[in-house]
Amino acid sequence: MNPRELAADLVARDHKSVWHPYAPPEANPLYPVESASGVHLHLTDGRVLVDGMSSWWSAIHGYRHPAIEAALHDQLSRLPHVMFGGLTHEPAVRLCERLIALTPAGLDRVFLCDSGSIAVEVAIKVAFQYWLSKGRPERNRLLTVRGGYHGDTFATMAVCDPVNGMHDFFQGVLPDHFFAERPSCRFDEPFEERHIADLEAKLQQHGDQIAGVILEPVVQGAGGMWFYAPEYLRRLRALCDEHDVLLIFDEIATGFGRTGEMFGADHAGVSPDILSLGKSLTGGTLTLAATLMSERVSSTIAKGEPGALMHGPTYMANPLACAAAHASLDLLETTPWRDRVKTLEAGLRKGLEPCRELENVSDVRVLGAIGVVELKEPVDMSLVQPAFVEHGVWVRPFGRLVYLMPPFVTEAEQLDQLTNAVCAVVRG
Ligand SMILES: *Cc1c(COP(=O)(O)O)cnc(C)c1O
Repeated sequence: MNPRELAADLVARDHKSVWHPYAPPEANPLYPVESASGVHLHLTDGRVLVDGMSSWWSAIHGYRHPAIEAALHDQLSRLPHVMFGGLTHEPAVRLCERLIALTPAGLDRVFLCDSGSIAVEVAIKVAFQYWLSKGRPERNRLLTVRGGYHGDTFATMAVCDPVNGMHDFFQGVLPDHFFAERPSCRFDEPFEERHIADLEAKLQQHGDQIAGVILEPVVQGAGGMWFYAPEYLRRLRALCDEHDVLLIFDEIATGFGRTGEMFGADHAGVSPDILSLGKSLTGGTLTLAATLMSERVSSTIAKGEPGALMHGPTYMANPLACAAAHASLDLLETTPWRDRVKTLEAGLRKGLEPCRELENVSDVRVLGAIGVVELKEPVDMSLVQPAFVEHGVWVRPFGRLVYLMPPFVTEAEQLDQLTNAVCAVVRG
């Protein structure tokens, strides 16, 4: 078979037996990938695409970075995996130490788990266990903001945006939490008290039932690609303290430099009580996530019944994934990622600006290495997806959002190709 026949054959077999995310049984269009390197995806049919998605925002150093590959080979030859119950290993211990050092002050205990959704599940469980340990079982609800996305499992779906969070379908079977208005002040707009008034009112009204407030700091990702003022987080921290409610940051999308700071919280200089990390933690090579918490939270859980954090995934702290995370963190330490993200930010602003004039565009916004073109109507993926591939780029919009989150190593020319493609496809 020639490359095009091979690709068609794989799609035909896929259609018979595979589910894809948020897709019907025969996902269409569908593009087989043969390999990837740097910022390029090599399709089975022979085409090469510049990747604007970083594989759901995780491949920040590009694909198959030699340093990450070397670390994986090295770890593979010693210990690919071992159970974490009763056993420990250097890659995990050192990773927890590094994450504590890197994240906002005051987070000093880490639970390593296997995916972002589970890191949020654990964050929620930690918050509930904290209040159970304090003899306050009625503190079993969460408060969040509209427009959020926290994962696909049932506990996490329950704090996703109830309308556009992709899960409204499940409303009847999800636990009922409190939702405040989305932080409406843009990232670079002056924050005013009215921007958080609804959340404050909900805390005042329901505070004694609320275990914690959970949200994505500064950038809401899959719930709407919305950037809001860091001052909101400082005010929120004060409100949580005032009402004795835990503050949970989900930095699974914002962590590790994507917004221009190492963490979204760093824009505000605020520390949460509980923090979830995932996605780019391993530079997009293996699934790994982490939930960090403060000493106050962990020691309270330890003092209560049963005195342990009641969670334990089979593949938690997988040594291979930890090795990849170390290599990715090493790269963040040794490469000028801050400058690169700044350069990408400038390139995204310049490259996407022409979209603002278009009839069908309602907003263009850029923060760090995230560029968003928001449309007035949802895109037709059956037209838009092949159009991007025709332009030699991999861009996967959802709903009314066409966005770019390229790897940090994307060169100016490659970024131009991405932004030009977005402008051309949006123009139609
Ligand atoms: C992707 C994401 C998750 C879920 O992570 P998975 O690894 O897909 O389970 C949770 N929260 C945020 C903010 C995310 O972007």
